[in-house]
Amino acid sequence: MIFSVSCKQTMSLLDIPSGVLKSNFFRPRRGKEKVVILLGATGTGKSRLSIDLATQFPAEIINSDKIQVHAGLDIATNKIPEEERCGIPHHLLGVIHPNAYFTATDFVDMASDAMTSILSRSQIPIIAGGSNSYIEALVDDKDFLFQSKYDCCFLCVDVAMPVLDQYLSDRVDKMVEMGMVDEVRKFFDANANYTVGIRKAIGVPEFDRYLRAEPFLNKREREELLQEAIQEIKRNNCKLARRQLEKIHRLRNKKNWKIHTVDATEVFLRRGKEADEAWERLVAGPSTEIVAEFLYK
Ligand code: ATP
Repeated sequence: MIFSVSCKQTMSLLDIPSGVLKSNFFRPRRGKEKVVILLGATGTGKSRLSIDLATQFPAEIINSDKIQVHAGLDIATNKIPEEERCGIPHHLLGVIHPNAYFTATDFVDMASDAMTSILSRSQIPIIAGGSNSYIEALVDDKDFLFQSKYDCCFLCVDVAMPVLDQYLSDRVDKMVEMGMVDEVRKFFDANANYTVGIRKAIGVPEFDRYLRAEPFLNKREREELLQEAIQEIKRNNCKLARRQLEKIHRLRNKKNWKIHTVDATEVFLRRGKEADEAWERLVAGPSTEIVAEFLYK
């Protein structure tokens, strides 16, 4: 993940010491179980926030990105690397075969099992990821009676669109530097089906034309085609971010989900220590307060 995560305990803005936050006394013995759901467009920092919260509260993370659920393409799909997980257990991350179908029903089944097992360890499930239709399927599930069993705290990380566009574009350049082209090449198959499994990921169909033509082109032609693919990946990431935001607006307005929003725009306009400080002040701190209020009230 390019958005760097540090495993240091974040400063809680609350009076409650983090040792107490980490203890198990938050759980009501009666009533509904509590679940935190992190929403936001691609690139806004959901993974970083999930780690910040899981290091403040006794929690485990369930991935709700339907592409990251598959094994493989860790750079292209932007999976949080092991060393940035800070020892927090992650569920549904890279566990499904790259070529397998993974439907909303599969997600509901597996996420429900993960929630049950997390709660049996007296931990809070934090569901984090960008697949809003899958989250909607989980929350609206009638067979599993999600809403009668669980009390949800929805948190959305927001970033002003022009600022996010720039970040997403830079992120694609960094992915390429990190070896995205070689990574995708390993999954290239002239007969590949781009509608199934991990090959649906942004970055795979876009490289198809380049990888097909690569052996027959000279250096200049190769570079041109590569740059075209990279530009298309950038555009598709920006489009994905817009679609995801529209879905979140719909969930808020049509479904009446009470979604708390934290605005991370300033974080993206700063660098280094200043960006970290802005993250603490504007995103991690307020989110910790919202979650503490939800858990302890
Ligand atoms: P819907 O099912 O209606 O498209 P959704 O919110 O469940 O909505 P998304 O998770 O937004 O779907 O994914 C839509 C598409 O965006 C995926 O099929 C894939 O092409 C791309 N995508 C999503 N997440 C990633 C990712 N982590 N890496 C690469 N591409 C992704």
